[in-house]
Amino acid sequence: MTRTLYKCKECKKYTLEEEICPRCNGEVYEPYPARFSMEWEKKYSKYRRQAMKIRKEKT
Ligand SMILES: [Zn+2]
Repeated sequence: MTRTLYKCKECKKYTLEEEICPRCNGEVYEPYPARFSMEWEKKYSKYRRQAMKIRKEKT
């Protein structure tokens, strides 16, 4: 499974696997080389797990 991290040219927000920014429909680009993206993904999954945990506690 490969994931690509993109960054929006318009609002500078990061997006994952979206070729168009879901927030402003702006153009996105790959801000980092693939290796960095993998490192980021590791960190991101940590946050995502935390977010899921929080969501679980709330519901
Ligand atoms: Zn945007």
